[in-house]
Amino acid sequence: MKQVSDKTLQALTDIIGAQNILRDDEAMAPYIVELRGRFHTPALAIAIPETIEQLQKLVSWANDNRIGLVPQGGNTGMVGGQVPKRGNEIIVSMAKLNRVRHMDASGGYMCVEAGVTLKNAQKAADDAGLLFPLAIAPQEKAQIGGILSSNAGGLQVLAYGYARQLCLGVEAVMANGSLYQGLSGLKKDNTGYDLSSLLVGAEGTLGIISAATLKLFPKPKGFETAFINLSSPKAALTLYSELLKRLGTSLTTFEMMPDFGMQMQIRHKMIEKNPAAKNSEWYVLAQMSQLPGQSTNALSTALDSALNDRVIEHFTIAKDERIRRQMWKVREQLSGAQSKEGASIKHDISVPISAVPELIERGIEAAKTILPDIRPCPFGHLGDGNIHFNFSQPVGADPKAYMDGAMKIHEAIYGIVTDLGGSISAEHGIGQLKTELLKHHKDPVAYDMMKKIKLVLDPNNIMNPGKLFD
Ligand SMILES: Cc1cc2nc3c(=O)[nH]c(=O)nc-3n(C[C@H](O)[C@H](O)[C@H](O)COP(=O)(O)OP(=O)(O)OC[C@H]3O[C@@H](n4cnc5c(N)ncnc54)[C@H](O)[C@@H]3O)c2cc1C
Repeated sequence: MKQVSDKTLQALTDIIGAQNILRDDEAMAPYIVELRGRFHTPALAIAIPETIEQLQKLVSWANDNRIGLVPQGGNTGMVGGQVPKRGNEIIVSMAKLNRVRHMDASGGYMCVEAGVTLKNAQKAADDAGLLFPLAIAPQEKAQIGGILSSNAGGLQVLAYGYARQLCLGVEAVMANGSLYQGLSGLKKDNTGYDLSSLLVGAEGTLGIISAATLKLFPKPKGFETAFINLSSPKAALTLYSELLKRLGTSLTTFEMMPDFGMQMQIRHKMIEKNPAAKNSEWYVLAQMSQLPGQSTNALSTALDSALNDRVIEHFTIAKDERIRRQMWKVREQLSGAQSKEGASIKHDISVPISAVPELIERGIEAAKTILPDIRPCPFGHLGDGNIHFNFSQPVGADPKAYMDGAMKIHEAIYGIVTDLGGSISAEHGIGQLKTELLKHHKDPVAYDMMKKIKLVLDPNNIMNPGKLFD
């Protein structure tokens, strides 16, 4: 346990009450380590405010005393942003600020507090007959504040956009304890800088989001889902542009994966069989959300054309919910399957959509030049230009020796990404994992602007110190 002075502990107790402070090792353990155990640094304490006023007083006190605060939502982030870096910070858990404040079904938005889990936000929308479309795997734990702060994307970005695009405004406690009130439900507000957008994706380095207004959509009346066989990422790109022309925003999913991803899951008995009728070099999982009034088989009609034009080799439509779930399972289990094959070198990157085939071709070639038996597993959201470019270790290799050589592979892949005008972090953010990469790959003018904004809004560097910037 990190030592905390009696004065600090007394001040914390006065502000949020002893019942909202965790101090012993056992209680703090789940908060100070992230999901994959990659970052594990002690904290002075865990503070769990119950009201916005308590949160404001806590931040103001921390600012006066130059104590770093690490905002934490569901602790599912992938880049170590939600756990301390230095060991002398206080983690601020948002778990108790978890009310749905307001539902405006006719206006198509709701206002929820930062600690509402994604699952509960989806449920609140569903109960009002609407859809909150953001979907990521850890929905039972991840909270709206964490999702907005890491600007999460997920499986339906194609049609509905990522977190920033789904947010009409936020309320946030700024570094001096003041409350930024940007919770407007306005779709149009043209009054200068978009401060809510600045706070979204800031990874807790500018302020602590306490609530947000989120956009809602009509619920689809059903889905048409297909598992598609094709020969290459290039064919997948051609198919994507054809489907987009025919289906527009009702095309809600377009996920690509290599046969290696399928065979791993069969080998490890994670699925009974390939949900496509046959094997192929590549697969696409495509889904159309049927809105009221829309044809029920628009996806299969479009795929018939693609088959006639020889863009694809075959396709299988999910005939019922059970088969639809099986198809989704193959996509959702891809990362898990890779961990059963030993160590993986991973990249969460994006490039312009039209450059995805070139990225994959050049990336595989570059990695195989470095390590001929490396096993590439690039998969993900082709429709967003966002590929999880993962590489499994060669069969029988020593995992540690493999990971020791990761930097060479990283440099090759990030070099190609930058060359293609892409981003070194498409979904998971920077946190403490990618601060060096950000420094080297972000446009220098943009990087400088980011640092200046940080300095103005958080001059004492108490907001998530060591994240985004060293
Ligand atoms: C299995 C798995 C699948 C995933 N799939 C996807 C995916 O498909 N697409 C995608 O985009 N992402 C994906 N992610 C990552 C996802 O973006 C994050 O897990 C999620 O957004 C973090 O939410 P959280 O509440 O757990 O935040 P945390 O992990 O607690 O925090 C994340 C960051 O936000 C900050 N933060 C948290 N709450 C606040 C707040 N109230 N105010 C200010 N800052 C705050 C933290 O300091 C940290 O920097 C996946 C993660 C996992 C584990």
